[in-house]
Amino acid sequence: MEKITDKIYVETEYLGNNVGVIITREGLVLIESPMLSADARHWKEAIRKVTDKKFAYLISTHHHFDHVIGNCHFDCPAIAHKNAIGGFEYLKTHLREEFERFFPEDRDQWEADVPNLKVVMPQITFSKELFLNMGDCVIELKFVGGHSASSVSIYIPSEKTVFAGDNIDNEMHPFLGQARLSVWIDYLKGILDMEVDTIIPGHGPVGDKQIAIKFLKYLEEFMHQVKTLKEAGYSPEEVGGKIDIIDFFPVDPKERPTVSNLITEGTKVIYAQV
Ligand SMILES: [Zn+2]
Repeated sequence: MEKITDKIYVETEYLGNNVGVIITREGLVLIESPMLSADARHWKEAIRKVTDKKFAYLISTHHHFDHVIGNCHFDCPAIAHKNAIGGFEYLKTHLREEFERFFPEDRDQWEADVPNLKVVMPQITFSKELFLNMGDCVIELKFVGGHSASSVSIYIPSEKTVFAGDNIDNEMHPFLGQARLSVWIDYLKGILDMEVDTIIPGHGPVGDKQIAIKFLKYLEEFMHQVKTLKEAGYSPEEVGGKIDIIDFFPVDPKERPTVSNLITEGTKVIYAQV
C-alpha cells in the first residue's frame, strides 16, 4: 500500500488493475477493486490498518473485467458511467473468456478463483459528470471516453490527484480494442493543463504529468505508424504484422505473445480512425 496524500492510498502491485481509497469525513471512497479474491481480502485488511471508517462508495473507472469483477467483495453502493452497464452484463456470461484472453500466463492465480467472482451491477450511474461532496473533500467524476465508451476520470482537486483509469497505463501497453483515439488524446492533453501533482494510472506505477506525456507519445506514435502504413497501401491485417511499437514499454518475455496480440488487435481498431 502506497500513501499518496493524507487522504489517498493506492496499491499498484496486485495482478490486474490498480486500486485506491480516498479517506473522507463521510467515509471511504474506493476506486476500483482488486481482480482476485485474495487481493481483495488483502486490500481490505490494509485499509483497516489505516482507518475504521465505513465504506461509502466504490467507483469503477470503466467496465473492463479486471477493474470491476472484485466489486462483489465490497458491500457499498457502486458507481459507474451509464455506458458501463452493457459491459457488466456481458461479463455475466464471458468472465472466464476474458481471463483466458488477457491473463493466459497467470492461470494458476485466477483459475480456482473464477467461481468465487460474481458480477455486481453498479447501483448509481451518470452520463456527464457526478460530484461526491464528502464533507472535507470533493471527488469529481467526469465522463471522458477514449479508452472505452464508459471511461471516466476521477479528480480530487484538494489533493491535486487524478485517477485516470486505463486512459493512462504506465510502462505498459494499453488495450486499444475499444478505443476512440482522438478523444483519448484530447483527454491526455487536457490533464497537462490541470492542477495535478499525482496521476494514478489504471495499471503500472504512480507518477506525475510525465506519465501522461509519455503515454501521449505512445498513442501518437501508434497512430503515426498505422497511418503511414495505411497510406502505403497495407491492409489492416498487414499493418498488424508491420507495426514496430512493442519495445516502447518494457515487456516481460513470457507476456510477449499476449502483448503482441493486443497490439495487432489495436491496429485494426486504429486503422479505421486514421
Ligand atoms: Zn480497460
